[in-house]
Amino acid sequence: MESRTFAIEVVKTLQAAGHEALWAGGCVRDQLLGRTPKDYDVATSAEPGEVRNVFGKRWTLPIGASFGVITVLGPKGSGVDPIEVATFRRDGGYSDGRRPDAVEFTDAREDALRRDFTINGMFFDPIESKVIDYVGGKEDLKAKVVRAIGDPKARIEEDKLRMLRAIRFASTFDFELESATLAAVQQNATQIGAVSGERIGAEMRRMLAGPNRAVAVELLRESKLLEEILPSGESLYADSKKWNAMLAAIRQLSELDFSAATAITLQAIIEKLGVGEVVDRWKLSNDEKKSIGWISKNWKTLAVGHQKRWSEIQPVLLHQDASRALAVVDAFARSSTPEDTQALEAISFCRQRLAWSTDQLNPQPLLDGGDLIDLGIERGPKFKQILDAVRSAQLDGEIETVARAKEMALELASGV
Ligand code: ATP
Ligand code: MG
Repeated sequence: MESRTFAIEVVKTLQAAGHEALWAGGCVRDQLLGRTPKDYDVATSAEPGEVRNVFGKRWTLPIGASFGVITVLGPKGSGVDPIEVATFRRDGGYSDGRRPDAVEFTDAREDALRRDFTINGMFFDPIESKVIDYVGGKEDLKAKVVRAIGDPKARIEEDKLRMLRAIRFASTFDFELESATLAAVQQNATQIGAVSGERIGAEMRRMLAGPNRAVAVELLRESKLLEEILPSGESLYADSKKWNAMLAAIRQLSELDFSAATAITLQAIIEKLGVGEVVDRWKLSNDEKKSIGWISKNWKTLAVGHQKRWSEIQPVLLHQDASRALAVVDAFARSSTPEDTQALEAISFCRQRLAWSTDQLNPQPLLDGGDLIDLGIERGPKFKQILDAVRSAQLDGEIETVARAKEMALELASGV
């Protein structure tokens, strides 16, 4: 079963039981934009207990019941994602700058008014195929504008996460951020600390992995959020040449990859502070940390790959993040004026080598540790150096046979 079919089913079931029920928020927006919704949310006049009664306890989870949300499970074996059914609500006060202190159940109109942006504030009745719009979302969607519902200042102040969401929606859809909404973000940017590192990281992941990340980075800077979410923002701006080069590169980056995009965006900071500071701030995963750190450290080597000894480049090319690092080289090379032809040459060299067979690209070593021991060379500080030197000589074509490799190992061991 398709998620969409199930989402219609849920609305039908609630309406048949005498409740008001509508699709709400992001899925309505996405559908009007001609995009496939990531998930469907249903809003209803039924209170959580009633929702559970309508679908049966077995088919519902009350995880979010305290703020009016019941999760409705799809039919057994259907494979569809569960749908969150939320009772129409208004939010009580916000004392922590992030979450409402309490919720009260209300009608659809007030439920629309508590939502963040007009384009996210619409309902859709999938049975009658009708959009219900209390907030002017349709016009803003048409005009391509992200606008806070109600007073932008108050809405941003009560939940600081909306600042990042505003920029994410404006950038992913390539919409304008309405001026009063942008001003409210600028005024509150220093308060972004009310949002957890994980949430900041999650928003950054979606912005930087998307095709419109250059717009996102520019908006983050314009809204003054960028300097707040980086450990040392000013180092990115001190040098406008560096900033412009970074923006040009991020525009050129062909891969929709978070690590590569982050390595470009944060290059100046990573060079200065290392990757750890950023990773801690955004609570990124270990894999992301390794990837971003490796790309930052190695892309410049690949950019001159054709001029290096093969033994130096080969291990870099074999790394799992090599193609991401090459995408970074490519982005910088094509975005510089004039184009960096030397780097482009290096890229085509690297790509040719990557197309080699495994035997050619990564031949069996002529010697391993066991061979050295058989030769009477003892484990110690020189052991690995000898193995590495023999391996390099092999890759660089200086030695081709096991016999010659053994000779070389013995010469190195005796210090000749
Ligand atoms: P996407 O799922 O693509 O990120 P979305 O708009 O569906 O976009 P969700 O986080 O899934 O975003 O939230 C669903 C809806 O809930 C939103 O469309 C919006 O109406 C409302 N909403 C979500 N977060 C907030 C918030 N911080 N403040 C106010 N309303 C919000
Ligand atoms: Mg959603």
